Amino acid sequence: ELTKLVIEETKKINGSNAINNLSEEFALKNASNLDAKFNSNSLLFGIPYFAKDNFATKNIETTSSSNILKGYIPPFNATAISKLEASHSVLIGKTALDELGMGGVGLYSCNGIITNPADSQRIVGGSSSGSAYVVAKGIVPFATGSDTGDSIRKPASFNNIVGFKPSYGAISRYGLLPYSPSLDTVGFFTRNVTDMVVISDATFGYDVKDATSFISKQENMFEKVNNLKEKTKFAYIKKVIDDLRPEVSQEYYDLFKKIKAKGHEVVEVQFKQELLDVLSPIYKMISFSESVSTNANLDGIKFGKREFGKDYVEIITNSRTKGFGDEVKKRFIVGALNLNKENQTIYLNKAKQVRRLIVEELNKIFDQNDILIIPPTDKVAPLISELKNEKTEGKEYLDDILTLANFNGSPSITIPFLKENKLGIGINLNAKPKNDLLCLQAAKL
Ligand code: GLN
Repeated sequence: ELTKLVIEETKKINGSNAINNLSEEFALKNASNLDAKFNSNSLLFGIPYFAKDNFATKNIETTSSSNILKGYIPPFNATAISKLEASHSVLIGKTALDELGMGGVGLYSCNGIITNPADSQRIVGGSSSGSAYVVAKGIVPFATGSDTGDSIRKPASFNNIVGFKPSYGAISRYGLLPYSPSLDTVGFFTRNVTDMVVISDATFGYDVKDATSFISKQENMFEKVNNLKEKTKFAYIKKVIDDLRPEVSQEYYDLFKKIKAKGHEVVEVQFKQELLDVLSPIYKMISFSESVSTNANLDGIKFGKREFGKDYVEIITNSRTKGFGDEVKKRFIVGALNLNKENQTIYLNKAKQVRRLIVEELNKIFDQNDILIIPPTDKVAPLISELKNEKTEGKEYLDDILTLANFNGSPSITIPFLKENKLGIGINLNAKPKNDLLCLQAAKL
């Protein structure tokens, strides 16, 4: 009954472009198979969800919202999908994204733009756009996402929902179509932190198919999530909070007082401004370069959509020319330039060294503190018409600040914080890598 209801609700958002594939038959069959097993004690039993369309789903088309993958039907499930299946949740379908995960807006899916469910003049954010949409709209209690720079945590802020990027390696990336493997992380959207803990418990763990995954000691988090230790040390970067719009900055300082009133500490920390100022270019250097090599298999020959050509070079050229959108091409061009041997030494290796400096700066913070509070943004979801003028002179670094947690692999969660009319602005909490429970406990405070 629940699956049927969700399918009906999904049909109502038909014009939104948020859904790439509604797997009606598959979902109904799975749900009715479940009825026979009703003694399951899984908290996710029968719970419907959507997967971002860059997760491989067995026998269900997986396109990553790219024309070049139209018609690709994987013969296997991503590990995260298998684990959710083993927990008896029900996959309803696949959600649209900025093509191949490249973007933060929801305007780059090959199937058309996705707008904010609360205000269609505004962006929904991305790249996990459709997943944010269906959770914000209340169609499903959770959806999978992936986060390379901020693709879960920024749209969570724009849509007033919870978005969690666990530690790098906490969840296997096997079957996640890659954008930038040294940064890509599997994560989720929910409407509250407790649901996030349940889904994390179901999906965390080492996977022999992903060499970067690790054996998580963070088990049974559901039972421990309300036990945040006394005198937890929260930190914030003063310059960052002071650079926010004054009314938002004030809200942060008010919150710090409330946290202290609960017996915890809130301390101000420093972060070298010259490192914050290069966050965005370093992210671009690394992610664009990795995206070129990791997507080299999308050539129209092995799988997906093949264009005509008289030989394989022409087939590849035509397939890639027609198959990719402008944003992807732009990133490939810049990335390919960086991968040129000489440029690797001059630019890419430098970028990796600077990444290391950023990680060291974060290590210093986490040596002394438990939680780093970061503002995902100080604005509600921008109007599509004003997207180009959105940058605030001299404070551009604020736009990419969530990327810090991708550089060092920290668990990082965005939860609802402020409301302006019907739109939200989130707050983001980060912990030391592999301290996912602490991060979730802090989010429940
Ligand atoms: N804003 C980032 C970008 O445009 C987000 C991408 C991501 O996390 N997948 O690259």
